[in-house]
Amino acid sequence: MGKSAAMSSATATPESWPWPPAMRASAAWHVAAIGAGVLVPGAWPWAIGAIVLNHALITGAGLTPRSNLLGPNVTRLPEAAAARREVAITIDDGPEPEVTPRVLDLLDAHGQRATFFCIAERVLAHPELAREIVARGHSIQNHTAQHRHNFSFLGPRGFASEIARAQDILAEATGQRPTCFRAPAGLRNPFLEPVLHRLGLSLVSWTRRGFDTREGDPAKVMARLARHLQARDILLLHDGNAARTAEGKPVLLEVLPLLLERLRADGLRAVTLPEGLKS
Ligand SMILES: [Zn+2]
Repeated sequence: MGKSAAMSSATATPESWPWPPAMRASAAWHVAAIGAGVLVPGAWPWAIGAIVLNHALITGAGLTPRSNLLGPNVTRLPEAAAARREVAITIDDGPEPEVTPRVLDLLDAHGQRATFFCIAERVLAHPELAREIVARGHSIQNHTAQHRHNFSFLGPRGFASEIARAQDILAEATGQRPTCFRAPAGLRNPFLEPVLHRLGLSLVSWTRRGFDTREGDPAKVMARLARHLQARDILLLHDGNAARTAEGKPVLLEVLPLLLERLRADGLRAVTLPEGLKS
């Protein structure tokens, strides 16, 4: 995919990207280190060390899904959602024919809504499932075209291709253009934020996750999600790539009834991200 497709869904020019303070500090740090290396005899090793340290910090921020050093990152619903008693259940890596329809039935039975961060190529494979998710009142958001394992090593062109292509596929399949983006495993680098800005997407991570792609014990997944559960929480679960219980069931199908029951008991309402993010 070329630049043109990325630009077609652009909402702002790349120049208007507001550099996050940490990125501005990082640029200044580079200038200072290089300046010292040039001007001060014998300072080169220190200057190089300073730049290496800076890159290590930036890499660390990119590997920390809930960090906002590299740009805005939604980890909770806004304050207004507290008064509305809202939480957001987000379900990643689908749609998955074996799991997603049963998830939709569970949500319907409890009258709750969720947000599905879909992999666009899986939507291409199961467009009817994507349409059903939206028809039943839920939201589909952008979780890249292919969910590449090396996603966090991509540069601006790679990000633009993976994300803009997913925007087009999801908009075509559901009639709704996503406004939220989540990186595979939440991992990224400083080139991601300008691309999201240009495409009009907000990076959304989570308040808590159940690690349900690795943990097959529903009680453990539920305990992680429900610790300090409260309004404004954004919870992360998976319908695609779900770990299996001892009985071989996708763990989400065992956890979701427990979670929905707990929300009811606590008087909390699960809403889609576009609804919950309203201030
Ligand atoms: Zn994922």
